[in-house]
Amino acid sequence: MKKITLFSLLLLLLSCHPKRTAGIIEQHQKELPAGDTIKFTPPKNIILMIGDGMGITQITAGMYLNGNRLNLEQFKYIGLHKSYASDNLVTDSAAGATAFSIGKKTYNGAIGVDKKGRAMQTILEEAEQEGFASGLVVTSSITHATPGSFYAHEKSREMVEEIAADMLNVDVDFFVGGGKRHFDRRKDGQNLIEKLNQKGYAISTFLDKDFKDITIDPTKNFGYFAADVEPLPFSQGRDYLVPASRSALEYLTKQPEKGFFLMIEGSQIDWGGHSNDSKYITDEMIEFDQAIGVVLDFAKRDGETLVIVTADHETGGYAINSTSTMDSIVAAFTTKDHTAVLIPVFAWGPGEELFSGIYENTSIYDKMRRAFSFKKKLQ
Ligand code: MG
Ligand code: ZN
Repeated sequence: MKKITLFSLLLLLLSCHPKRTAGIIEQHQKELPAGDTIKFTPPKNIILMIGDGMGITQITAGMYLNGNRLNLEQFKYIGLHKSYASDNLVTDSAAGATAFSIGKKTYNGAIGVDKKGRAMQTILEEAEQEGFASGLVVTSSITHATPGSFYAHEKSREMVEEIAADMLNVDVDFFVGGGKRHFDRRKDGQNLIEKLNQKGYAISTFLDKDFKDITIDPTKNFGYFAADVEPLPFSQGRDYLVPASRSALEYLTKQPEKGFFLMIEGSQIDWGGHSNDSKYITDEMIEFDQAIGVVLDFAKRDGETLVIVTADHETGGYAINSTSTMDSIVAAFTTKDHTAVLIPVFAWGPGEELFSGIYENTSIYDKMRRAFSFKKKLQ
C-alpha cells in the first residue's frame, strides 16, 4: 500500500514537470484517425474559403453588425484548428496557408515549401494533375502569402516577383486579385502578362474595365488584375469579391465532367486587425460572408461540392467589450499582430463530417485529400 502511494506521488511529481521543448515546435501531430469510418460520396468540387485573420470575434462582430445574421450560420459541421507554425506559436499567413496547401507545418514566411525549404506539391497542383480545374479569387495581390501558397514555391513571402513567375508553372484556370505590377513592371524586365496571354490566358485589368463589366471567354484561362498592388478596402469602393466568386463558379462549371478546386480569400479582414480598426474588420467580414452565401447557394444546387470556411489565424486579439450593443461594437485589441487562438472551421457538403473536432491546421489538407479521393496516394 505504502509502495503504491509513493509510486503515485512520484508519477504526480513527474507529471508536474513535463519536458519542455525549447521554443521550437517541430512535431507534426496528425490528429487521431477520427472520422475514418465516415462514409460519403467524394465531392466533385472543393471550395476552400479563407477569411485571413478571421477569428471567432471577427465573425461575432460581423454577425451582430449584420442584423445578427450570417450565412455562416447555415453550416452544421464545425471544428477548430490549431494554427501554430513550425517555428512560432503565432503563425503568419504564409505558414498558415501552406499548412492547408501542402499539409505540413512550416516556418513563418514559407510559400508552398516545408520547414526545410523544400517545394511540396500543393492541393491545387495535385487537383490540376488529377484533371480538375482550379481557381483563386482574393482581395489582396495574387502574389500575397495566402494565394501564393497554393501555386508558388518560394522560401520567402517577400519574393513577390518570383511568386508571380511561378504562376507560369501552374495552370490556374481562373484567378482574380491585385498585384499587376509584379507581373509587368519587374526588375528583370519581363512582362509576365504577355507570357500568360501566350500561354492561353485572357488577362484583363482594372485599367481595361471594372470587374463587373468584364466578359469572360470560356475557351481561355481567365485572369483579372484588380489593382496595381493591393486592392482597396471594401469601404473605399472595392466590391468584386462577391461577383468574382459568382463568375468563378460559372466559369469552373463550364466543363461539367470536370471537378474543380477553388480557393476564395477575404484577404483584408486581417488588415483591419493589423490596423486595430473594428469597422474595417466588420466591413470585410460581412463582404466575405456574402461571398459565402453565393458559394453555399451554388453548393446547394450542385449537391457535389464540399465547402470549407476557415481562417489562417486570428489578428489583433480582437475583443467585444461590455458597452457594446448589437449595432455598435466597442472593440479592444491586445496586439497589432496575429494571435495563436484556436480557429473555427465550417464545412458543408459531401465529406463535411470530417471537419468536426479539434485538429492541426495541416489536417485540413489531409481532410481535403481524403474527400477528393485522388488516384495518387498520399506520400
Ligand atoms: Mg492573406
Ligand atoms: Zn496578417
